[in-house]
Amino acid sequence: MKIETKLLHAGIDPDQATGAIMTPIYQTSTYVQEEVGVNKGYEYSRTQNPTRHALEKNLAAIENAQFGLCFGSGLAAIDAVIKMLNPGDEVISTNDLYGGSYRIFTTIFQKYGIVFKFVDMTNVANVKETITHKTKLIWVETPTNPMMSIIDIQGVAAVKGDEILLAVDNTFASPYLQNPIDFGADIVMHSVTKFLGGHSDIVMGALVLNDPEVAKDLYRIQNSSGAICGPQDCFLALRGIKTLHVRMDRHCYNAKKIVEFLQDNDRVDKVYYPGLESHPNHKVAKSQMRGFGGMISFSLKNDTIEAAHSILKKTKLFSLAESLGGVESLIGHPASMTHTSIPKEIRIQSGVVDSLIRISVGIEDVSDLIEDLEKALT
Ligand SMILES: *Cc1c(COP(=O)(O)O)cnc(C)c1O
Repeated sequence: MKIETKLLHAGIDPDQATGAIMTPIYQTSTYVQEEVGVNKGYEYSRTQNPTRHALEKNLAAIENAQFGLCFGSGLAAIDAVIKMLNPGDEVISTNDLYGGSYRIFTTIFQKYGIVFKFVDMTNVANVKETITHKTKLIWVETPTNPMMSIIDIQGVAAVKGDEILLAVDNTFASPYLQNPIDFGADIVMHSVTKFLGGHSDIVMGALVLNDPEVAKDLYRIQNSSGAICGPQDCFLALRGIKTLHVRMDRHCYNAKKIVEFLQDNDRVDKVYYPGLESHPNHKVAKSQMRGFGGMISFSLKNDTIEAAHSILKKTKLFSLAESLGGVESLIGHPASMTHTSIPKEIRIQSGVVDSLIRISVGIEDVSDLIEDLEKALT
């Protein structure tokens, strides 16, 4: 099946009891057993739930993987991956990554003896140089948040060797635009909160993968740590995923037009979008993505926090909010919103300057969106 069909149908069967075409919300904590040890495959909803199971099968299928696991948030999914490691193990991570990922690595897991090394992964040689015999995991995010840097997944997979797991945070691209497993990733992570859910109404995370041994370990952690999501949220995720391709096509179309507008605007300094031919890793983006997504960052010629704040105050259609990937357009200021937990020198080094503005382009009419930005920039 093509991805457009899988989004709607993979892992989803009509309800066996009633024929309901939409997966029922199994709002139950437990399941009656016929006798001790005899059940229908479900015992307790932390361990398995039919609504979550349908979503986990669907997510695995749309990422060309065998196993899927859903969690209460994207960070809970990341938490499960790092819990596979032991004190002394090393993780190599990109230096330009989601602020919450940086925070869980440095303020939660570092104190349990796991070592994190942050490198510029846009140059794969930096990854290779940092690998030691203690390296157990490479954490890639591409496109990165908020600089839209592109990391060559296949390139990283080629230098890592079989003993090291390669995990890719695929939140920004979504499975419709990029499937990291096809390029050698071992684990794909999603914040389902964003494009997959698509309607700004849930917080959820997911992991998908192919290796049965690693999957077994992750299911053990999912059940033992218990950071699962509820069945109602799983239903909303399943419903959102059915339109991912239609939404994403419009996100990409609108984003391209807005990039053209921003490039022509006098107050705008740099525009960051992987679809631009001038983007340093545009070629890699083109080879691993089927479209360039709905996320854009740009800086101002007047590179101050105040100049950025004045624009955020003036937009009407672009709502000032954290998060991304919903049908409605959002605008944000990484330096004072999502990236406050990253020290200033590190932030500026990775390109997140004071005036950097990030937009999540929604699926409204693009001329209305451009008019809104034009007014705010004047
Ligand atoms: C939002 C986000 C996360 C964290 O996901 P939550 O669902 O908010 O916990 C991780 N990575 C990226 C790229 C994100 O945008």
